[in-house]
Amino acid sequence: MIPGTDARPEDSDRATLLDRLGRPLRSLRVSVTDRCNLRCNYCMPQEEYVWLPREELLSFEEIAQLVEVFTSLGVEDVRLTGGEPLLRRDLPRLVRLLAANPRIRDLALTTNGVLFAEQGEALRDAGLHRVTLSLDTLCPERFAKLAGRDSHAQVLEGIAAARRLGFPKLKLDTVVLRGVNDDELADLIEYGRANNAEVRFIEYMDVGGATEWSFAKVFTRAQMLERLGQRYGAITPLRENSSAPAERFRLPDGTVFGVIASTTTPFCRSCDRSRLTADGFWYLCLYAQAGIDLRKMLRAGAPVEEIAARIASIWGARTDRGAELRAATGERGVLVGIEQLRKDPHLEMHTRGG
Ligand code: SAM
Repeated sequence: MIPGTDARPEDSDRATLLDRLGRPLRSLRVSVTDRCNLRCNYCMPQEEYVWLPREELLSFEEIAQLVEVFTSLGVEDVRLTGGEPLLRRDLPRLVRLLAANPRIRDLALTTNGVLFAEQGEALRDAGLHRVTLSLDTLCPERFAKLAGRDSHAQVLEGIAAARRLGFPKLKLDTVVLRGVNDDELADLIEYGRANNAEVRFIEYMDVGGATEWSFAKVFTRAQMLERLGQRYGAITPLRENSSAPAERFRLPDGTVFGVIASTTTPFCRSCDRSRLTADGFWYLCLYAQAGIDLRKMLRAGAPVEEIAARIASIWGARTDRGAELRAATGERGVLVGIEQLRKDPHLEMHTRGG
């Protein structure tokens, strides 16, 4: 990466495996658990779920083995996610295994922060490079209502810990919901500035699990920019050569923030991300209806070369552009109903790894 940015030099020293739309296999999100200690109503509005059977979860060694195969094919960014990844016992051990893989240039974690104050130091010492924390609101009461749990203070402690531990390029992700937290954009920017973190505003997406989604609840990128423009004055888009999901903008005082507008302005054309679930299913798109069972191959003792060849051939045939197809849908509603989610928990965002 070019230091200080998410951009990469044009010429990579790595072999590049391209899909049918010319997109490289570069970024892998690894969900380490489907469980979560929050119940954010845009992601997990139910109290109970059909969980993945524990014996089907990949061990840390199996995860590291599969990641090794992916990195041999060009993946260089690995992000641990979930569910809530800090609920997976002894996560620093996995981080240590992955940090030993020299092909990984960026080893990151996405967390809701509730347990980060407890675990951040061990994760940093194990070799975690970066962390992104989710923060939807600065109001404890609002948090409790939105997340179904009274853990706001722990989240703020987690953010303070990330800062204290010196994690570079700290990011705070906010899902913006109309009428819920759209009045907090400037406050969150100020909070990010005070904590040396870049805030990224995410449009509410109609992914699996978002069973309360409707377009009326989406606060769009255009509305975010208008709201922030009224408060701060002219907002300048940054020109970047990047496949990162966030478009970045600068306020007149130099503060930079991001917008992830997958709902109204999808970025499928540059999407180099795929996802591995905690039980070893590989998804080529957040919106994909089916994944590829890599655990089965691994546990059947398939040679690494065979797994690599399968991944390469599947990536080579990839044409997914789920968010664009959703955006083109005239009458847009909930993507997957509750009954179907119960039958196939892999359709859930919290299983697939956000
Ligand atoms: N538990 C961790 C966390 O909260 O960061 C990691 C998993 S969570 C599924 C990853 C990200 O997905 C979070 O930032 C969350 O806000 C976001 N997310 C979940 N459902 C979403 C939705 N319907 N629309 C937009 N973002 C969503």
